[in-house]
Amino acid sequence: MVRLILAGLALLLAALAGFVGYRTMSFTPPPPPADVAAPDASAYEIDVNAAAERLAQAIRFRTVSLVDADEDRTPFMQFHAWMAETYPAFHAAAKRETVSDLTLVYTWEGSDPGQPPMLLLAHQDVVPVPDDTREVWSVDPFAGVIRDETIFGRGAIDDKASLVALLEAAEYLAKQGRRPVRTIIFAFGHDEEIGGDDGAVQVAALLEQRGVRAWFALDEGMAAIAEHPLTGGPASMIGIAERGFGTLRVHAIGEPGHSSMPPPETAISLVSEAVVRIHDMPIEQRLEGGPAIEMMRALSPELSFTNRMAVSNEWLFAPLLRARMAENRTARALLGTTVAPTVIGGGDRANVLPAEATALINYRFHPRDTAADILERARAEVADMEGVDVDWAEPPRDATGMSSTTSSSYALLAALSRELIPDAPVAPGLVLAGTDSRHYSDVAENVYRFQPMLFAEDDLAGIHGNDEHLGFDNLERTIRFYIGLMEAGAMQ
Ligand SMILES: [Zn+2]
Repeated sequence: MVRLILAGLALLLAALAGFVGYRTMSFTPPPPPADVAAPDASAYEIDVNAAAERLAQAIRFRTVSLVDADEDRTPFMQFHAWMAETYPAFHAAAKRETVSDLTLVYTWEGSDPGQPPMLLLAHQDVVPVPDDTREVWSVDPFAGVIRDETIFGRGAIDDKASLVALLEAAEYLAKQGRRPVRTIIFAFGHDEEIGGDDGAVQVAALLEQRGVRAWFALDEGMAAIAEHPLTGGPASMIGIAERGFGTLRVHAIGEPGHSSMPPPETAISLVSEAVVRIHDMPIEQRLEGGPAIEMMRALSPELSFTNRMAVSNEWLFAPLLRARMAENRTARALLGTTVAPTVIGGGDRANVLPAEATALINYRFHPRDTAADILERARAEVADMEGVDVDWAEPPRDATGMSSTTSSSYALLAALSRELIPDAPVAPGLVLAGTDSRHYSDVAENVYRFQPMLFAEDDLAGIHGNDEHLGFDNLERTIRFYIGLMEAGAMQ
């Protein structure tokens, strides 16, 4: 009888192994919707040298975000005049409006008002170059230097490359007399790097007031990377959501006095325990409910055999997959909200009890968690601790909603990316930083974050860092991508 059970078990295991193996071998990533045909974007005639010179010119306008109301706006005004002069065919075809004086909105009216518009975003402002980093730059960050088929300067990637490439693409089409069927709206904010309150927030309000509900919005935020942490190979990452951000301030009041006769708890012991409790608070880590599982599926042909086996047999291996991803910090951040105590302070003499102590705990929210929920749970964790209170150090920002990976607009972006960066499979991702696009979620059916550029680790270090630069190949690819996007998405 035992032998019979064992034999039966062995048979079952063999069948299971066969099934798992079959699913692994036959698994293919989900195909894009069939209704999208990308144009032949390699056929456009692009003069990349001339385009690079124009990007270099754009970098020379010192459009550093204006923090105070009395700062000089001239660089922005000059930049606006340059755009009109440099891209005359587009400026003749589209209507230009200003919002909060410095943000630009262009409407290139389509012949069919029944089609929801396409919304293309970029920002004019750049982060400053701090004086103490200036000497690390090999060039003047605002001189617009071109060297070795590479454009150097603040904004070379973030985000004058997008802005200039969008204008190059629109000018290319307008010059040929092409007109859109579907309206294309361009919004170029002037304060993205400081939150977008006067730019993107106001443009979104204006569009909402006009009853605009865009087909999709496209902004910066992700790109193709040469080495994806899960596969080691290239991957085009399209951001379908943005993480939220918040910092909890934990404050404890203690009894001040001399340390020779201490009470059972001091402000410091209280704040320490509160930080440990809040840090240890369980936070959901799952593949589902975020871009993680879809990203794994999309990258499955490039994964190692065991990872591919796990992805194609998720019903059986979800716990294993989760454990594997948890080993990798980048991957783990995709599974859930991250928590990091970053600051602690209180007291200044060894023999004096401090009256208070404070700590900061930084959160990056996954789309499944809300800031309000995290705060409520953190407060519950320390509810029994007298003298301890918890609140946001500044207003937190929730994660955005998630955009679709099965929409026609995602399929179009993916098809163009595959055409222009053929070695890179396209996968959805979660954007770590904030972009202007988060303000447009109510006026667009889907919001995507993608610059069609292929970056190595060292290229990415230039963004907000030193020696920011963009190769001619990436500039050309970006222009082709936007022409293709406008042609396929709005002109047929
Ligand atoms: Zn940016």
